[in-house]
Amino acid sequence: MKAFRAAILRFADDGTAVYEQDGLLVTGPGANGQEVVHAVGPHAAVAANHPGVPVEQLPGRIIAPGFIDLHIHFPQTDVIGSPAEGLLPWLEDYTFPHESRFADEAHAAERATFFVDELLRHGVTTALAFGTSHPESVDALLGEAQRRGMRMIAGKVLQDRHCPDGVRDQTQQSLVDTEALIARWHGRGRLGYAITPRFAPSCSEAQLRGAGELAAQYPDVWIQSHVAENLDEVAWVRQLFPAARSYLAVYQQFGLMRERAVYAHCIHLDDEDRALMHDSGAAAAVCPTSNLFLGSGFFDYAAAKRAGFRYGLASDVGGGTSFSPFHTMLAAYYAGREGRTKAGLSLSPQELWWQHTAGAAAVLGLQGVVGNLQPGCEADFVVLDPAATPLLARKTAHAASLDELLFSLVVLGDDRVIERAVIAGGA
Ligand SMILES: [Zn+2]
Repeated sequence: MKAFRAAILRFADDGTAVYEQDGLLVTGPGANGQEVVHAVGPHAAVAANHPGVPVEQLPGRIIAPGFIDLHIHFPQTDVIGSPAEGLLPWLEDYTFPHESRFADEAHAAERATFFVDELLRHGVTTALAFGTSHPESVDALLGEAQRRGMRMIAGKVLQDRHCPDGVRDQTQQSLVDTEALIARWHGRGRLGYAITPRFAPSCSEAQLRGAGELAAQYPDVWIQSHVAENLDEVAWVRQLFPAARSYLAVYQQFGLMRERAVYAHCIHLDDEDRALMHDSGAAAAVCPTSNLFLGSGFFDYAAAKRAGFRYGLASDVGGGTSFSPFHTMLAAYYAGREGRTKAGLSLSPQELWWQHTAGAAAVLGLQGVVGNLQPGCEADFVVLDPAATPLLARKTAHAASLDELLFSLVVLGDDRVIERAVIAGGA
């Protein structure tokens, strides 16, 4: 066992933050050999119960749960910051050409190493990630995550129509490949698989039906896709699936709405869609930097809260503009405030942080496993320097409450705040 003495941030079951100014985090091997949180709380009390455990002193630092990114495109690392006239031209001009190169194993492996380094540098210890349509992309990413001991979920993109040669897959082969990847990776160590129809317009009905059949056959495998990101896309889906009540209803029709199904964006939904999200147990990955960058719209937090479905935060790199959870939390605050297209509200600093940690874990059905530092959680955490920049040092030194401290970090923080990311699995 070992222990870390610092300020410690974690979350109660109701999502409120628990903060120890002088805390102690004790970790050690759990039942399956995974490093887990053994004890956490005020230093004096926890230390008294753990005599002889070596303590690493981290004065002036904050230990917090590792961040979880609920929607990110591993092959789009090099697409970030590409200029385009909205979503569909952006896909054609940048995304598909980049993704076509991931059939090459060496290319995919080099990108996987950089991608994982970049996640950890920003304090992201778990991600739900899209690969490309090539199975090699998943092998590269999950292989790299396995070497680092990270909890990572990824899937091969399904897209058998409306995309160019080089990234388009074949209906039957795509389903065979998906099932082979589930067998190879799902539940291996800390890794998981996600059935990954890119979005309804890129998938034939046969491919969507096959994806839904696999989702029924493997109920603990995740599902990830996109829905209702922008109005052109919504209109396109209406043309392609004229019998469907809505874009989201297409996924329902093919058996793709259930627990562990995570839909990116969820902007242009109506209340019937939101009720379907709630009733099916599906969840939303909210991608505010991407939505602002592409001008797609604003996630309606008030309506989501009324409907009671689960949601959490995501970068959506490369449509998103940053790997940084701080940038994503700040953009979520902007999206919440926006009050012209929907009701505006102020998301509290604690809720913003929760959406990227314990709340995101709940979206994945991994509450009590990652995204928190309660006893029993896997010991993925970040060490934060709240004085990483001159302005942050001034602001955080004068914080009069936990909300003031957290909001200073949300607004002013970036990768400079992340001093270290510690992975329960090792590296
Ligand atoms: Zn996306």
